[in-house]
Amino acid sequence: MFGPFMGLKLYNTLSRSIQEFTPLTPPHVGMYCCGPTVYDFAHIGNWRTFVFADLVRRTLEFSGYAVRHVMNITDIEDKIIRRVRESGTTLREFTGPFETAFLEDLKSLGCREPHVQPRATDYLAEIIALIQKLMDRGLAYRAADGSVYFSIAKYQGCGCHYGQLLKLNFEEMRPGERVAADEYAKESVADFALWKARVPEDGAVFWQSPFGEGRPGWHIECSAMSLKVLGESFDLHLGGEDLKFPHHEDEIAQSEGATGKPFVKYWLHGAHLLVEGRKMSKSLGNFFTLRDLMARGFTGREVRYLLLTAHYRETFNFTLDGLAGAKTALARIDECVSKLRALSGPSATAPAGSDIPLLANFTAAISDDLNISAAWGAVFEWVRETNKKLADNALSPAEAAAHLAAWTKIDGVLGVSLKTEAEIPESILALAGARTEAKKARDFKRSDEIRNELKALGWMIEDSPSGIKLKKI
Ligand SMILES: [Zn+2]
Repeated sequence: MFGPFMGLKLYNTLSRSIQEFTPLTPPHVGMYCCGPTVYDFAHIGNWRTFVFADLVRRTLEFSGYAVRHVMNITDIEDKIIRRVRESGTTLREFTGPFETAFLEDLKSLGCREPHVQPRATDYLAEIIALIQKLMDRGLAYRAADGSVYFSIAKYQGCGCHYGQLLKLNFEEMRPGERVAADEYAKESVADFALWKARVPEDGAVFWQSPFGEGRPGWHIECSAMSLKVLGESFDLHLGGEDLKFPHHEDEIAQSEGATGKPFVKYWLHGAHLLVEGRKMSKSLGNFFTLRDLMARGFTGREVRYLLLTAHYRETFNFTLDGLAGAKTALARIDECVSKLRALSGPSATAPAGSDIPLLANFTAAISDDLNISAAWGAVFEWVRETNKKLADNALSPAEAAAHLAAWTKIDGVLGVSLKTEAEIPESILALAGARTEAKKARDFKRSDEIRNELKALGWMIEDSPSGIKLKKI
């Protein structure tokens, strides 16, 4: 049943199986999601991952856990440095607007704001200390080019396991990664850079360190920030499946190499997104940022809904037709919820012990490794049945309030409700509720008076077979 600590099951990439979720120190859950690299606007494929992370967080909160959600901002990275050079700005001048845009888009998509949003540039001291620790432990070395590399052979030599998330064939490792000229100095092709020695192309983007001027690699940034904010061992780490290797595998190696403790208990990975059946690419014209979709008249809420219709471990085909369908589906929910609001009025309270099957059905679905199709199935079955009861005048205001309360709990996870409370003031809803009561008591004089009062206040009330509607005149 609904929280606290319902039997939530999640697919853990570490064990390649669905496991019961039991955090290290309940009710607390530490959760880290690899955040955006702020060199451009995030695209819809990135957003799938962040909306997935938001769903996980909301499900944990729904289950009764106290979540500490950390999402880093990657503001030191090769592409950023190249664009800083090309645009002739400072690092912060360049990344700042993309960071702001990202957080605005996150809000438009109805995502709860992460509690901590560490920037790599604010964690240089922690990053350098972590690299130093790995060097002290003999797991990292400074190569002839001045860069510092993580030695996978030394790590394995200590009995540590490289390849926890993926079975790795060391012969074929990092085939897709271009080996930069400055990386020929490393001892093994599998080794990866922790600190990249300053080169002229870096311009003004470099920091001082005991290993010389330079900048951190992307992988060590995430290890340093997550260890600092969430501790040496924490519960949950999320990201897109493309980050499993090398990024997440390297995070595990760096963190466990430095602390000697298990880094993360559960790893969750979201699957890819196709757009109109194909891999998203600018040349195919199927590359969308959230802003592109909003310019086409879609809302963040519709995009969120569509992204939430697919199970997180399945490849999802995002289409503009699908977005149009999202509009229709949300309108069905909105209509049902607004009728319930009008019927219940603000003063009606749900009767004690009211049993709304929506709650149990939804909870069973979402706790089963976030079975979102079954969860939406429960929602739309509820919409259908509630509409029928409303049409038959079979719901009392108190029952309508009980349905609304159940929906509000569910929407705490889905986050798709239209915020009509803000649009229809409490006082207007109260009058509408009083009018419904008057009509029920066959006090038509009073009900007409209230209708006129509402009109004077600028609201038109309409009766329909399925309930009342409030419209602004
Ligand atoms: Zn990361």
